[in-house]
Amino acid sequence: MSLKERIQHVEERIWAACDRSGRNPGEVTVIAVTKYVTTEMTRSVLESGITHLGENRPGVAVPKWEALGGQGVWHFIGHLQSRKVKDVVGKFQYIHSLDRLSLAQELDKRAAAAGATVNVFLQVNVSGETSKQGITPGEAEAFLREAEQYPHIRIIGLMTMAPEEEDPERTRPVFRRLRELRDELNAKGVTKEPITELSMGMSGDFEVAIEEGATWVRLGTLLVGKGEET
Ligand SMILES: *Cc1c(COP(=O)(O)O)cnc(C)c1O
Repeated sequence: MSLKERIQHVEERIWAACDRSGRNPGEVTVIAVTKYVTTEMTRSVLESGITHLGENRPGVAVPKWEALGGQGVWHFIGHLQSRKVKDVVGKFQYIHSLDRLSLAQELDKRAAAAGATVNVFLQVNVSGETSKQGITPGEAEAFLREAEQYPHIRIIGLMTMAPEEEDPERTRPVFRRLRELRDELNAKGVTKEPITELSMGMSGDFEVAIEEGATWVRLGTLLVGKGEET
């Protein structure tokens, strides 16, 4: 399949998932995860009309960003070391992996220096797998209350990764829990502005994530492939 065909195919699956769950496809934005592919392939993705790109390693992503002249909207989706924050602030408009207060502090400091505001997702380890980053659901409220002191970060949503499952249906409780957590936090008025976004769903499980309320899906393998030519 060509890139164009893959995009078409993914869009059809998103529409179908929205249809099944009574959602508006306009609420779901695709992030093309280009971490596996070259700068040239990433350029093709942008030329195909996709705006949002996801990368997870600053050492690879920043040179790519520079080669592409910062075109597109960049999302940082991997574990972010505090000492790398200065490399990504000002280039990446969204950070999906806020998992500790020291990172919030560093993001705030660097964003202030750059005269920017960074949009962030609080990463929650819903499944409890030790291999996954993120705070526990029970820690979210206290974390968000503490993070209010950092004016240059805007926490717009929650992010999670489900365990890899042969049957994507088995990921549903993880995605549902993240949505419920968001709704509980908003009902309690934990943040000044409600947190609206849910970053959840990858190639193997995005349809279930959409049915459970995802507003951003992060698609690598299925959409842009793992390095083969277009
Ligand atoms: C790599 C990655 C993705 C994309 O994974 P695919 O299964 O290739 O779609 C999404 N989210 C995160 C956090 C990733 O690291």
